[in-house]
Amino acid sequence: MVYYAGVDLGATNVRAVVAEADGTRIGTNRRSTPRGPTGIDVTEGVLRTLRGACAEAGIDPQRIAATGIGSIGPFDLAEGAVIDPANLPDSIDRIPLTGPISELIGSDDVFLHNDTTAGVIGERFHADRNPDDMVYVTISSGIGAGVCCDGEVVGGWDGNAGEVGHYVVDPRGRLTCGCGHEGHWEAYCSGNAIPDYARLLAEDDPTISTSLPLEGPDFTAKDVFELAGEDELADYVIEQLAHWNAIGVTNVIHAFAPLVVSFGGAVALYNEELVVDPIRERVSEMVMTNVPEIRVTDQGDDVVVEGALASALTEGTGDRRRLRE
Ligand SMILES: [Zn+2]
Repeated sequence: MVYYAGVDLGATNVRAVVAEADGTRIGTNRRSTPRGPTGIDVTEGVLRTLRGACAEAGIDPQRIAATGIGSIGPFDLAEGAVIDPANLPDSIDRIPLTGPISELIGSDDVFLHNDTTAGVIGERFHADRNPDDMVYVTISSGIGAGVCCDGEVVGGWDGNAGEVGHYVVDPRGRLTCGCGHEGHWEAYCSGNAIPDYARLLAEDDPTISTSLPLEGPDFTAKDVFELAGEDELADYVIEQLAHWNAIGVTNVIHAFAPLVVSFGGAVALYNEELVVDPIRERVSEMVMTNVPEIRVTDQGDDVVVEGALASALTEGTGDRRRLRE
């Protein structure tokens, strides 16, 4: 019997799952992402996590036929490594992944994807119709998309396709993105950006009442969503977020003609009615082509690790016809 594995390397946690050839999970493991000092320490954390999942499954890692990885980027794809990740300490300049994992499992079948691409692979794999055209959009600390178009998972030459969070949605460029440019979608609507955006809207119209702790050090996006329906500014922020989110998603739909757009990431997952439902309503009025199904992932926080596993099971595609049973 052969086995398959999926690994999710995030800035906070590393997760691994081991499964049988039909996708049934038999082992999982999770630990904090090592904060260095070097990238090799992160690599070792990933290997420990994968070994931990194998131990729970009661199998030797060498019995794993293929492993998918969904990871923070950016990548050196030729080397199968993460290079200068944004949300880990500066001393971490390079995290080798595909080589060491390939050695651990004794197989060259290691598929490295950014986390949103892993997301679309998993969403496609688990979707009712296993569609050839699908987009996964994450709204979390940042915004990004994984795209499958005409059955091809879109990567780009450097693996950086799908950086839709850096679409310009506001040509006035009132907020500066973490990437240094202005007016980007995620500069308004990501979990990290929402507090700044709320402060900007409060400055625009000082007559709007609010009990949001705008200047407090602990003010987060969660505070805005918690006061929905009770606070004038919170409701205005949520309405404006819907405006920019709908522009971003409309651009995605016009670019890729998906049958399904699936959302994940904490901001979308935990605020479906306030974030995703308004996108669905607005997009149907804004799209001039076919309007796709707009949904929230059923995989919750497991969407990346499930996608990584689906990649291993289907040779990096999420296409169920390629299951190697
Ligand atoms: Zn940007």
